[in-house]
Amino acid sequence: MPRRVAVVTALLATGLLLGGCGDGRPDGGDGPVGRTSATTDSSSAAPASSPTAPPTPTPTPTPRPLAGRVVVLDPGHQLGNARFPAEINREVDAGGFDKACNTTGTSTDDGYPEATFTWEVAVELRKRLRRLGARVLLTRDENSTGAWGPCIDERGRIGNPGEPGPDADVRVSIHADGNRSSAAHGFHVIRPGQREGWTDDVLVPSERLAVALRDALVAAGFSPSTYLGEDGIDVRTDLGTLNHSDVPVVMAELGNMRDADDAVAMERAAGRQRYARALATAVRAFLTS
Ligand SMILES: [Zn+2]
Repeated sequence: MPRRVAVVTALLATGLLLGGCGDGRPDGGDGPVGRTSATTDSSSAAPASSPTAPPTPTPTPTPRPLAGRVVVLDPGHQLGNARFPAEINREVDAGGFDKACNTTGTSTDDGYPEATFTWEVAVELRKRLRRLGARVLLTRDENSTGAWGPCIDERGRIGNPGEPGPDADVRVSIHADGNRSSAAHGFHVIRPGQREGWTDDVLVPSERLAVALRDALVAAGFSPSTYLGEDGIDVRTDLGTLNHSDVPVVMAELGNMRDADDAVAMERAAGRQRYARALATAVRAFLTS
């Protein structure tokens, strides 16, 4: 099945083909630092193209604190995963052991899927990070019932030094949990634990990244998990996406989709913007401090 063809076709159909993501093609937010880059992001006409144009006052440059930085965003799952059981159940190397390529993810009780939530938060977050000057790579190109994957190992490798495309500075995997226990609510940020030969290189900076995310989410009014981790941070060695990353990485479980209050924040655009704003604050803090 030519998944890539299907994906591109779907993107064209929905008008979402904004730039390459997982295949290493530059997206719209990169390029040289400064006015050229700013112009690229703008839909207005480029004033510098006419040699006869009179000199115009130099506008105050927009601060672009993340210029030159590369951020990988990994929106968890894919909307079509359930329709491709053979593909997503195929085992891949998850960091010295085998694990299913991917899973279907969870949903709210209203049926709002985790794959859609993570996609919508990632797209909103990409917009905010690009505004700060970052180049953003997504690990999947769209959210579609006709697509599956990628597998967890690929999600963890995109942006690693030596992989096709630019070298990333940081990777944030975006998920939401699905726990039916009563009183189970709130977010938790998962950082990699010690796994010799796999996570040694990213252990310390990933802890700092996890703290940055936790602090930004709390500052944005989100509550740390009542049922997992400690003060909103958990440590795991069994997650392929974390194990494969050679750049600082965390997996943000932004809330419990089965909790009514968490679900409200996730299902509303304003709630997703609040998540994205907090994550942008965290990535900025991590990369500039
Ligand atoms: Zn998930």
